[in-house]
Amino acid sequence: MLRIWAPAKLNLTLEVLGRRGDGYHEIRSVVAKLALADLVYVETGLGGLDVRCDHPGVPSGPGNLAYSAALKYFEQLGCGPGARIVISKKIPVAAGLGGGSSDAAAVLRALNAAYGNPLTMDRLQDIAAQVGSDVPLFLAGPLVLVEGRGERLSDLPGATRRNVLLIHPGGWLSTGVVYRRSDGLPLINPCSQAVAAAMARKDERAVRQNLGNALEAAACDCHPAIGRLLASLRRAGYTAHLTGSGPCCYVWDADPSVVRHVSEMARVHGWCVLVTHTLE
Ligand code: ATP
Repeated sequence: MLRIWAPAKLNLTLEVLGRRGDGYHEIRSVVAKLALADLVYVETGLGGLDVRCDHPGVPSGPGNLAYSAALKYFEQLGCGPGARIVISKKIPVAAGLGGGSSDAAAVLRALNAAYGNPLTMDRLQDIAAQVGSDVPLFLAGPLVLVEGRGERLSDLPGATRRNVLLIHPGGWLSTGVVYRRSDGLPLINPCSQAVAAAMARKDERAVRQNLGNALEAAACDCHPAIGRLLASLRRAGYTAHLTGSGPCCYVWDADPSVVRHVSEMARVHGWCVLVTHTLE
């Protein structure tokens, strides 16, 4: 039995560059992996494929992204499926933190390790892209520039440990719905290159100034509690942003006094907060 951590992700930037002919959106995003992680147990050498998840909002069996990843892995290997997978969720679900995609990538890594690494990283990346747009980035990192619909990845220098305060307003959002809503709204794209360069030279001020997410307006339109949360945090003087398509938001590089104050605000407003950090 292999036990593997499946980390959450944070979009430091998210640019939406237009809709493609295949219906996907062209994006550019600087993504950091977080210490917040699901736990995935993988046992091989059994007949069939059994995937279980301990979260009531996440399907066990074929509806789970980890199931699709395992099935495609065995197809590539050219043999029938033989694994038991158990997922213990710690990452908030449908929050923009990429939990399902990360579980799928963890399963690909675990299965490949269990079978003596017969598939190259390029082939694993191909399978990952078939499972979902966000899956390939979890095979790279800890700091990555993601382009295309998520399949073009470049590892970035400058991954350092930074405290991150995640603030969840409650509810959930479908990624597809937010992207579709963004088609009708003016987009304000952040500059991924500026954040990548600032991370490389460890210029915290420039990182903070260039964080941003083009989906913010669409996510706030779909789920107004996000707009209220961001407005409250910004009024209190914090640099707060949306991660992915939301609804989870974050304060970057939050020191203990910020964590204390935002936690008090969260008690008043009914938000959930989680303290984590980026991976080096
Ligand atoms: P994305 O932006 O890729 O949608 P997200 O972080 O917003 O990511 P997830 O937590 O990955 O959202 O969940 C998205 C949907 O995927 C949920 O509705 C959930 O039921 C489904 N899902 C399938 N497998 C998983 C899994 N292993 N973990 C979490 N959700 C899963």
